[in-house]
Order: sequence, then C-alpha cells, then structure tokens
Amino acid sequence: MKRTELFTRTEKSIGRDIVSKNAELLTRAGYVDQLMAGVYTYMPLGLRVLRNIENIVRRHMNELGSSEVLMPALHPKAIWETTGGWDNIDVLFKIKSRTNNEYALGQSEEEVVTPLVMNRAPSYKHLPVSVYQIHWKYRDELRAKSGIMRGREFFMKDMYSFHTSQEDFDRYYQLVKNDYLNIFAELGLTAKVTEASGGSFSEKVSYEFEVLTDAGEDVVYYCEACDFCVEDEIAKVKPGDDCPRCGKGVLKEAKSAEVGNVFDLGQKYGKDFDLGYIDEHGKKQFPIMGCYGIGISRVMGVIAEKYHDEKGLVWPESVAPYRYHIVMLPDEQNRAAAQKVYDALGADNCLWDDRDEVSAGERFADADLMGCPVQIVVSRKTLEEGSVEVVSRSGKFDKFMCKLDELNMIVERSQS
Ligand code: ATP
Ligand code: MG
Repeated sequence: MKRTELFTRTEKSIGRDIVSKNAELLTRAGYVDQLMAGVYTYMPLGLRVLRNIENIVRRHMNELGSSEVLMPALHPKAIWETTGGWDNIDVLFKIKSRTNNEYALGQSEEEVVTPLVMNRAPSYKHLPVSVYQIHWKYRDELRAKSGIMRGREFFMKDMYSFHTSQEDFDRYYQLVKNDYLNIFAELGLTAKVTEASGGSFSEKVSYEFEVLTDAGEDVVYYCEACDFCVEDEIAKVKPGDDCPRCGKGVLKEAKSAEVGNVFDLGQKYGKDFDLGYIDEHGKKQFPIMGCYGIGISRVMGVIAEKYHDEKGLVWPESVAPYRYHIVMLPDEQNRAAAQKVYDALGADNCLWDDRDEVSAGERFADADLMGCPVQIVVSRKTLEEGSVEVVSRSGKFDKFMCKLDELNMIVERSQS
C-alpha cells in the first residue's frame, strides 16, 4: 500500500487522557480510533493486524475440525430467559425496540448455538459437532480503561463443541487446550494456563490463558521453574510459597491479561433448552458441551503492550500489517528505485512512504512508530552504491545494504 492512499495520520502525542499504553500507541500510529470508552474503529492498518490474528486463530480452529459460522449479535429476549442469563448476567446489554420488544446483544453465544446445532443433531450419529465464529461481542463493562484490551464492543473467537460422552468431550477439550498454547506462541505471546472453577457457567473445571503484563487486570501466582500458575482469587497458595507442582521453584506474583479460556459447560445448555439427541439405545440424552474463547482484539492490545519501545510499536512478523516499510527520501531517482522495491516485494507486503512533502526525520519517526518489522531506506546516499539499506525494527538482524538487482536477498536475509 502507498502511504498517500492511506487516509489515517500519525500523531506525536494524544491530546486527551489515555491511560493505557496500547490505546496510546495504536491511536498515535493510526491503527485505531476511539468512538467512546470501550468502542473503537479499526483503521486500515489496525484492521490488517486484527485480520492477521484472526486468520492464525481461524487456521487452528479449522485444523481442529471446527466449522466456521457467523451468528447474529442481536438476540431475542426469550433465549436469554431460557438460560437465566437475562436476569443474572450483569454485563448483558438489553435493548427495547419501538414496538416494545426486547433484545439482547450477544455477550457470548451459547443461547444461539445450542438450538442451532441440536436442532440438526437428532441422533448420536450426528455428534460430535464443533462450530466457531469470529465476531463482535457486547458487554456492559463498568471499567473500560485498558484500551482495546477491555472493550464494550470487542472481537472474539468463540467455539462450541457438542459430545455424546464425557470421554469424547475430554479428548477434544485437551486437544483444544494444548493447541491454544501453540496459537498464542504463533501470535508472539507466552501464555500460562491457570485452572479455575467455571464461574457462572458451571462448577466444572475451566482453564484460563494468561499473559504476564503490567497492563493486565488479573493477578496470578506462577512458578519460575515450571508451568504452574493460578489466579490470586482462588488460590490456596501465596507468593513466596514453594511450588506445589514441582517443589523446586518459588511462587511469584504478577499482573496478567486473560487472552483466552476453555470451559466445560456440562449439560446445562441442552437441559435449559430441553434439546437432546437419541442415543444408541433409543433414549434421549443431553449433549456435553464445551466453549472455547479467544479475545482477538484483546490479543492485539496485549501484543502492543508487550512489543513496543520508546519509539513506538514493534510488531511480531506473524501479525504485522506489512512486513516492509519503504522509507523513501523523495526525489525522482529515489522514487523510481522505491517503485522497483515495491514491485519486487509485492504491494501487499509493503507500506511505501511515497509522500513528497514530509521531512526525513518525520518519515523515520513514522516508520518506527508504526512498527513494521523491516524498514527499507531508499535515499540518494544508498543509491550511490546502487543499493537500498535494510534495517530491522526490532534489532533482530544487523542492518545491511542490498543491491537493487538483488532484491530477493531482502526476503532471505531479513528472515534469519
Ligand atoms: P475477563 O475476566 O477479562 O472479563 P471473561 O472471563 O469475562 O474475561 P470470557 O467471557 O470467557 O472472558 O471471554 C473470552 C475471552 O474474550 C477472554 O478470555 C478475553 O480474552 C476476551 N474478553 C472478555 N471480555 C473482554 C472485553 N470486555 N474486551 C475485550 N476482550 C474481552
Ligand atoms: Mg468478563
């Protein structure tokens, strides 16, 4: 993409008070725009990051044999009354229409997905089933001060699975739980798994995936030596204790952000809707269900919190809006060379700062703020050698010169 085609702007500072680092950086770099507390527009570059995160998650869900659907966010009141959520879920947004009908905005989708799937699974032969969506969720959060990490409207991947036996459920549950760690690793995040009771869903066990960051709203105690981690609220241990799992490490306290979780829903939803299937003996049974969330937009906020320096964002390759940022100091000759780089590396991989009127300093500052992994400098000086200069935003590789007729080298050398 050419910078002159981008309508967004970068800002040196934010006029209003933004308490969270992710909101400050993402706003200054033109990735998001806040409409009101907890509600954001994802601008062109921000949307590319969000889509990259989404697509990594989507690939994993597909590999887990789950089918993608897109369910409504606007729900009739009746389904929320069926499960008790209408009166018991404090974050549920409720809407009254001009004809006095009442609706809820989806804060999760068990109420939609249970009838959707079970009306199509009359027999045990139709199960197991796993479906997911990646969509907006709405929650009347009291505090929305963590930037895009806690929205009142936010993007979530929610998957739901339906099983005929506890064993089959456990098998899938473990599969997803293990895969979550791979997903977060691919997104550049080290997640710790905490074990918790299922809260409002059930008394069954659930697992939360926590990333250590001071920007998080949770507090965990974790072992330095092994993967033991618990949330402070439920904990039978305290910081300084010997690790109950490995006995070698000592427990430390840290702030963390929940990026995903998996819940054992048991038979609650099948029973609430009285929707079951006929088993092999001709008897009606209720499905054992699981739900599996990942906060897609929160993940983007957490990545911004973990990957930045004093100059701006430093995106991991896997989610960066563009791999290359072509920093061109404008004159006719440089423009022709930059065009060559842009064509060789592909318009979909490059953000080309093709603006005329901007100073060199501003150009470099913007490239650092926006945080694409590889900066390619095209100036009179580099062209004297018939080359461009290739710089790593993260310092992952030493900067090097690359001849204009060997541009493929950029792809290889900037990967190592
Ligand atoms: P939290 O304790 O942070 O409120 P939760 O337990 O309510 O999270 P779930 O209902 O299980 O979260 O939602 C699944 C995932 O969606 C969470 O793991 C988190 O990553 C994300 N998420 C939850 N609430 C928000 C929010 N208000 N804004 C952005 N992401 C959210
Ligand atoms: Mg919550």
